[in-house]
Amino acid sequence: MLKDDILKLKKEKNAVILAHYYQDSDIQDIADYVGDSLELSKIAAKTDAEIIVFCGVNFMAETAKILSPTKKVLLPVKEAKCPMAMMVTAEKLTEYKNNNPDRKVICYVNSYADVKALSDVCVTSSNAEKIIMAYKDQKILYIPDKNLGLYLKDKYHLDIEVWPGFCCIHNNLKPKDIIKMKEAHPNALVLIHPEAPLEVLRLADYIGSTKGIVEYASNSTHHEFIIGTEEGILHPLKKRNPDKIFHLLSQGLSCFDMKLTRLEDVYTALRDETYEIIVPEDIRTKAYESLKRMLEMS
Ligand code: SF4
Repeated sequence: MLKDDILKLKKEKNAVILAHYYQDSDIQDIADYVGDSLELSKIAAKTDAEIIVFCGVNFMAETAKILSPTKKVLLPVKEAKCPMAMMVTAEKLTEYKNNNPDRKVICYVNSYADVKALSDVCVTSSNAEKIIMAYKDQKILYIPDKNLGLYLKDKYHLDIEVWPGFCCIHNNLKPKDIIKMKEAHPNALVLIHPEAPLEVLRLADYIGSTKGIVEYASNSTHHEFIIGTEEGILHPLKKRNPDKIFHLLSQGLSCFDMKLTRLEDVYTALRDETYEIIVPEDIRTKAYESLKRMLEMS
């Protein structure tokens, strides 16, 4: 069986398999660890594995490489890319910085290594609020997700300029989706990822990262939830909470790039050691500084 072949190869090659929460359930089930991108990269760095197979999109595998420079990091599907991460380039950011030298650049982890390398600090959706508040008296540029930036700007009235990037999955959510679902499921709590637009977030009972949503629903005494993030999260939610009820906020919550990875790709990646992620050392060390600053502050 393919699953057994993967596990055998993984052992032979001393590899660790990571799967983001948005991967298909069969990929999540063969992974050693399932989680958010930074959390997974941190876990992998602490293992003695020589190879990391990152089932996700390429900026995630890059982050793993930044934290584990001596390990070989593989992305099973070369074409798996995050459209949001591609919305900011090192070239455009350099141009902005030259024109706005007084703004601190706070960079969401959903970005490429060369963009992280140009930033003052990185954030995740779990710690963005805490880290941005540490810069509350300064002028800030938040990249690349306009929605998370606008949410924090609105909440704390900060001097934040936002890059016009967005997640094409969460950005599609509309207030009418929540109104419709609340009418159908009046006892359910609405849990939403902060990459959704502000007018949607204002209707949520809880706003948090993917991991935050899993933890919140699992620890809550509530029984029924409307989930406003990528559909892959339903697998860990149902696994951890077999007696609770979860409704996906909208049918459009499926990330094309996250769903590219198949078990066959994981097997081929391990067998042929493809596709290796390379980050030039000068970029890696600068990107590492931005990530390290975040880890120290969070
Ligand atoms: S869900 Fe959104 S942020 Fe995540 S990989 Fe897909 S497009 Fe990028």
